[in-house]
Parts: sequence; C-alpha cells; structure tokens
Amino acid sequence: MHQLLSVYRSVLSPFVWPSVRSRTLGVMICVCAALIGTEALQLWRVYDDNIRQNDLITSNTAQSLASQAETSLQTADTIVASLVEQVEAEGTGPEAKSRLYHLMTSLAAALPAIHEMGIMDKNGDPVVKSLVTNLAGLNYSEREYYRYHRAHADRQAYIGERITSKIDGAQSITVTRRYNNPDGSFGGVVVASVSLSFFQHLFDQMQAKSGGVIVLLGDDGVILVRSPALPKASYRIAGELRQDLQDHPGGGSVAYKSGFDAVQRQGSYQHLRGFPLTALVSQSDWDIQAPWRAELEWHGIILTCVIIVVIGLGGRAITATNLLAAQAMQDSLTGLANRRCFDERIQRELKRAARSGQPVSVIMIDIDHFKAFNDCYGHPAGDECLRLVARTIQGSLRRQGEFAARYGGEEIAVLLPGCDGPRAAALAETMLRAVRGLALRQAGHLDDVVTFSAGVGTCAPGRDEGDAQALVEMADTALYAAKAAGRNRVATAWCSGVARGREAAELVSLPSAA
Ligand code: GH3
Ligand code: MG
Ligand code: MG
Repeated sequence: MHQLLSVYRSVLSPFVWPSVRSRTLGVMICVCAALIGTEALQLWRVYDDNIRQNDLITSNTAQSLASQAETSLQTADTIVASLVEQVEAEGTGPEAKSRLYHLMTSLAAALPAIHEMGIMDKNGDPVVKSLVTNLAGLNYSEREYYRYHRAHADRQAYIGERITSKIDGAQSITVTRRYNNPDGSFGGVVVASVSLSFFQHLFDQMQAKSGGVIVLLGDDGVILVRSPALPKASYRIAGELRQDLQDHPGGGSVAYKSGFDAVQRQGSYQHLRGFPLTALVSQSDWDIQAPWRAELEWHGIILTCVIIVVIGLGGRAITATNLLAAQAMQDSLTGLANRRCFDERIQRELKRAARSGQPVSVIMIDIDHFKAFNDCYGHPAGDECLRLVARTIQGSLRRQGEFAARYGGEEIAVLLPGCDGPRAAALAETMLRAVRGLALRQAGHLDDVVTFSAGVGTCAPGRDEGDAQALVEMADTALYAAKAAGRNRVATAWCSGVARGREAAELVSLPSAA
C-alpha cells in the first residue's frame, strides 16, 4: 500500500491528482461553506431575535412602569385638587385646619406613594402638614413650585423638581396646585409629594426580575430614580440619549452608551401622559446576547466536529481515489507503472520536448532467455526474478522525470526526458551491470547469471517528428539488434529523416558485454 502510494506520488500524480483532488476538495469546500453559511444564518437569526425580544420586554416594562407612575401622580393630583377645593371653601381656620390635618394624615397612611401633604399660605409658611404638627420655623417660599404658583394665576397641577424634605430628608417629586383667596388673589399652595423611595422599591423589584437598568427621569434629563441605584444623588442622562428622547417624544426604542458606566445598552422608553417624566428600561448588549453566545458556543463545537468529519471523510475519499487511480496505472507484479501509464507519459514528455527543444530517449529492456529461466526454475521464481530486475532498473533512475514501466511480459521500457542517446546508452549499460551484479543464477546462460538486452532510441526535436510510436519502435529495433548480436548488451539507434519504424532505424553501436 505504502509502496503503491509512493509510486503514485512520484509517477502518476501529475495525471490523476489535479482532477481528483480539486473535485474532492471542491465538494468538501462546498459542504463546509454550506454548513458554515447555514450556521451563520441561524446564529444571525438568534442574534436578531434577541434584539427584538429585548425590545418587546423593555417596551412592555417601560409602559407598565409609566402607567404605575402616572396612577401615583394622578392620585396625588386628585388629592391636591380636592384639598384646594376644601381650603377655598372652608378656609384655614383652626377647625378647618384640624379637619384638613386628619384628612391628610389618613390619606397619606392609605397611599404608600404619597410621602407628605402640606398646605402653605401666601408667604410660604406651612398651614397644615401631614407629617408634623409643630410647624414652627418652617417656610417654603424658596421652593421652585411655590415661586411658580405665586407668579402664575393658572389653577393647573404643577409637577415640580425633585425636593428633599425639610422634615425627614426624604427625596420626592411634588404635585402642587395654587389656591386663591375669596377675592381671587394668591392664597397659597397645596402640595403632595410623591416618594421617590416608593418608585425605587418598585423599580428594584422589577429590576431583580428582568435585570438591566430602569430609570425614571425628568424632561430636563435629570435622573430621579434609577435601579440599580446610582451612588450620586443627582445625575443627568447622556446628551445623545436625551436628544433621542426629545426627537421621538412619547415612546420608542433607544440604543446608547451609558454616561455613567460606559456600557452599551438597548431598550425602550415611555413618556408619562400628562407628566414631564419618562420611564426608561434598558439592557446591556452583553446581557441581551447571552443566549446568542451560548448558542454560538454549542453551534461552534458541533460545526467544528462536523467539519472535522467532512475533512476526514474527504481525505479518505482522496486517498481511496488515489489508490484506485494508482492501481489502474500500476503493474501489480513489479510495482512499476504499467503500459497504459507509459503510453500517456511518453505523449506528454514528447509534447514538452517539442516546446523545450530537449531530446527524449527510451530504453527498451528484455530479459534474455527468460522462457528458459521459467522452464528451469518455475514461474514463481521467474516472477521473483522479474521483480528484482524491475526494482534494480527503477533504482538506477536518478533524475527528475525519469520513469520505468513494465511494457509487457518481461519487457521493461524506460523513458528519459532531456536525455540524449549516449547518456541513455550509458545509463542502460549501468542498469545491465547492476542486474548482472544481482547474480541471479541462470544455469547455462552466459556467466550463469540473469542478463538482459536493451535497445536505446532517441528522439531529437527539430530533427524527428516527436512521434511516440516511432520512438518506441526505434528502441525496439535496437533491442532486436542487441538480441541478434548475442544478448547481454545495449544497442543504440536513432531515427533518420521523417521515416519511421524498423526500416528507418539504424544500428550505430553494439557495445560488447562486460
Ligand atoms: P529472448 O528474449 O532472449 O529472445 O528469449 P526469451 O525466452 O526471453 O523470449 P521471449 O522474450 O519471447 O520470452 C518471454 C517469456 O517471458 C515468455 C514467458 O514465459 C516469460 N514471461 C512473460 N511474462 C512473465 C511473467 O509475468 N512471469 C514469468 N515468470 N514469466 C513471464
Ligand atoms: Mg520478451
Ligand atoms: Mg526475453
């Protein structure tokens, strides 16, 4: 097997290798490309699905949170509106204050989103507060919502900026309305503050389930609540993200790089209806694609295994095809190339010689009295003798392109590209000496050893037609002459003019046997 393949590589591969290899490689590349393409498409779909899925989840979460925040703020506003009505109807006398205090404390207790309620007079002094009864020293005239209502006559609800309670330091946003004196002048402000820790708790619960980041932010870009919480109390979203939110008010999808931790995130936002606030829910790209990475890992492993199998099978197919091709071109007894292979090769070499202008020689070798050898020692011994002679001849070849084939029976043809007649004759002499040197016993024949006769034919481009048949016939004629001259020798001939065949060949030398 090994010998067969080595003969194949050195002698036959130029004929069969390109087509077999390229076709098998082509099939393998197509199969691998199809597998990789299918996997890439599949993984791209998973990647895209993850983005869509994230869009859907974050959009639903943002809408749900926005809706809860709206409900809390609307509740606060409803309370504020009813307190305004009550204050305007009943004033802020001692009895009215007592009723208001009880109403406010019971409402604050029932509504966890409400941190505190209060009523301020026209100077910003508290009249009633739900959290405390001792109001000494408190004044709210510097509050932004207070200044707004004092300056604006409208009776609409006003959502103020984030404040810190002067009583317990809690963070909240305020829903306020102005109330008027009976004469229509500014009477003061009713305020309900909605606790940011309420939203924080709500967001933290949601964030624990879905991961990612949940933010409640004002239209000015200030982050009011964030889960996971920020270390700093006041933080603004990145300008780019703020621009996105302004460009598409209401709601939508965003992809942005966080100004806080520089993480790339994708998500959705929902602006609260009637309030200058937005709920933003986002997930980092890395987390969004966690399922994709898991798929990539598995698919990568499976794909690699499949490709290894395909390459392995392809390699085996190439080896098997090479072996078949080699068997089709090789003589099974001697291991040399066969006649078919020789015929192909000589055509090719003659065409090459016609282009390069180099001569081509052929040595035709025939074992002497081989029939008698068989008769004397038997066919198996004859086979072994033939193998040894063939191996010796093959072993005498040194140059690139030199090539020996079993031409038929006990005849061996040697093709010598780029070799002129004298060098070919010298090589034939060397082969003959080597075979004689084997000292294969053949009683009664010459020195009682196996010998052969050889004829050398040479084709010189430009002078001869470069015809394979003519060249072989020339060598054959010389062989015939060597036999006729007593065997165990080499004879040389060349073709004169354009004539072919035995008639045209001219025996030029008959070297005497050594
Ligand atoms: P010469 O060539 O010297 O004129 O005599 P020869 O006896 O060799 O004559 P020829 O070339 O005509 O005979 C060829 C013989 O080679 C005939 C056959 O018995 C033998 N032969 C051919 N092929 C094989 C083979 O594969 N194995 C064996 N053992 N013998 C073979
Ligand atoms: Mg013969
Ligand atoms: Mg013979």
